[in-house]
Amino acid sequence: MKTDKSDILTWLRNSEDYVSGQQLCDHFGVSRTAVWKVINQLKEEGYRIESVSRKGYRLVESPADVYSASEIASRLHTEWAGRNLHFYASTGSTNPDAKRFAEEGEPHGTIVVADRQTAGRGRRGRSWASPAGTSIYFTIVVRPVFAPDKASMITLVTALSVAQAIEEVTGLRAQIKWPNDIVVHKKKVCGILTEMSMTPEMDEIQFVVAGVGVNTNHDSPEDFPEEIRETATSLKIESGKQIDRAGLLERILARFEKNYDFFAETEDLSGLQEAYQAHLINMDAQVMILDPAGEYTGISRGITKTGELIVERDNGEQTLVYAGEVSVRGLYGYV
Ligand code: ATP
Repeated sequence: MKTDKSDILTWLRNSEDYVSGQQLCDHFGVSRTAVWKVINQLKEEGYRIESVSRKGYRLVESPADVYSASEIASRLHTEWAGRNLHFYASTGSTNPDAKRFAEEGEPHGTIVVADRQTAGRGRRGRSWASPAGTSIYFTIVVRPVFAPDKASMITLVTALSVAQAIEEVTGLRAQIKWPNDIVVHKKKVCGILTEMSMTPEMDEIQFVVAGVGVNTNHDSPEDFPEEIRETATSLKIESGKQIDRAGLLERILARFEKNYDFFAETEDLSGLQEAYQAHLINMDAQVMILDPAGEYTGISRGITKTGELIVERDNGEQTLVYAGEVSVRGLYGYV
């Protein structure tokens, strides 16, 4: 939830000049002492705030990679994505938290952010390594008004948004392994898990949650569990630069809001297909489709307007692959 602290920090961040204590009191309807307490709390968290008598307060510098509810909230520029925010230093997994908040009626765009997950999950019950201080783990709640069969496209909308934000912030090329992994230099930096809840009549979507894990500031491959060391990487390892997590999260949410609204207008990916395909690592590439009904190989030719992967089979036939039970691999490895 937004606190006075987030509001005051936002105000300071967005002001070029000094902000007087009185202005803050009047605007937020709180006492001088309350303002003073919040300023002190912020200072204790490492914000450098200058106080000059008769002028007021000025934010001089924020601590490096500060990751908290107020920091994230004060940096948002979105209308609805992330505006209702829950932050945990540690939680089991942000998807179940977000589902609980959605069940309780919290709005479209609600997010749950954690610094650490003790039971991070991927698709099909797999686990997602989620140590503290290294990554972005968040889940966003959306409340679509369209039919349930369109919900799987939200995974692709999310993947595109993360890829675009990573490129914008790091300058690295971020590619998408259909439908939901983000890959940098052929290694996985992000996984996405989308889950849907239906109305009791099972004919309408109640809400969808999209959970995102981005490996951000792991210093070396040794920071990953041994079984994923070959396939996983972090943005810091690939770029050589420490990533400001709140800044990257802000960019992901901004991209997501824009892309989601675009998608919701047409209820398909017609407006995003080109951008998605420009990031698709599987474009015109040989792929192996690991389908529980049988594996096969072919050349991937992009996606349809509804998000299926188009695969040209070795016998020349075209197959549409639906996300769900299927994994895609390169012929000789992960991509
Ligand atoms: P694929 O389609 O590649 O089989 P998936 O989309 O089914 O993967 P996800 O649900 O995205 O898989 O992620 C779970 C898998 O990702 C785990 O089984 C593990 O191999 C790998 N993994 C777990 N934690 C991380 C991490 N922090 N970074 C990169 N990969 C991870």
